[in-house]
Amino acid sequence: MKAAVVREPFGVDHLKIEEVEAPVAREGEVLVRVTRAGLNPVDVNVIRKKILYNLKPVPHIPGSEAVGTVEEDSGSFKKGQRVIIYPRIFDGTCEMCLSGREYMCQNGGIFGVASNGGYCEMVSVPYRNVMPYSGEISEDTASGLSVGALTAYHALKRVRAEAHNSILVYGASGNTGIFAIQLAGIMGMEVSAVSGKPWISDYINGTLFDEYSKVSGTYDIVMNSLGAEHFKGSMEHVAPGGSLVTFGVLTGSATELDIGSVYTRERSVIGATGGTRKELQEILGIMKNHEIRMPVEKTLPLEMIHYAFELFQKRNSGRILIKPSQ
Ligand SMILES: [Zn+2]
Repeated sequence: MKAAVVREPFGVDHLKIEEVEAPVAREGEVLVRVTRAGLNPVDVNVIRKKILYNLKPVPHIPGSEAVGTVEEDSGSFKKGQRVIIYPRIFDGTCEMCLSGREYMCQNGGIFGVASNGGYCEMVSVPYRNVMPYSGEISEDTASGLSVGALTAYHALKRVRAEAHNSILVYGASGNTGIFAIQLAGIMGMEVSAVSGKPWISDYINGTLFDEYSKVSGTYDIVMNSLGAEHFKGSMEHVAPGGSLVTFGVLTGSATELDIGSVYTRERSVIGATGGTRKELQEILGIMKNHEIRMPVEKTLPLEMIHYAFELFQKRNSGRILIKPSQ
């Protein structure tokens, strides 16, 4: 099968389309033909080997976000069934897994980071990593749920978001931001967002600031996955008793924090990563009754992966997707 393989010394120049042996489903696994795979910051970091997590195997097939169709009957899965791959490898037995936090499994990691990922025609994954989804959800949108939507939804849960809360989302046009503003709206929150992309106004029912310097007011929840560059500024918009939730370091990971402004106003800084399978199922449940849209700028064949990454860096008008297989 065809696969995008990156090898030492890593970097986009060392990412090549190669013919590799197709995987075979072992006991308890299901073979999935990958029909869409998303591009996310984590995948860029894997290719550049600038990753906070354990990266294996090397040479490596990246691609943390993927959906596909079941290739052959296996367990309760039927050939042709459309499935989402839950993107965390986990053992189900460690303390984290037993407390319902399989996304932080002590012996696991991210699909496409701690294991080969979805930038290939076929993957074999454990039953517990495969989730069927309704035919009413397009393959394109489905491909954004396991990382983009799940990260956003889990972050909202981490700060115990409630209907009466106000929220300010930084980077609203990003892979997670686009879901955060829609999910927050569906949950009944008062939504504000910062984004320099005018098209984002079609996705937000609330206030849009087109520049960071124009942001005003304070909010119960500030969601900021942009990292160091906007951290300090975003803290100023956290209301007394409110929370800032973060899950990304796009602009760097070291920043200053005024500890006084944290404790005197009882503000919280909360980290979030990934999400549970239950939460992914909840998102699919929400989508039965509510429309959640994901803008797609381009869907490209696997052979055009380099161009896909070029487009991804520009982040023009929506998601960049790879179509490894029909
Ligand atoms: Zn575990």
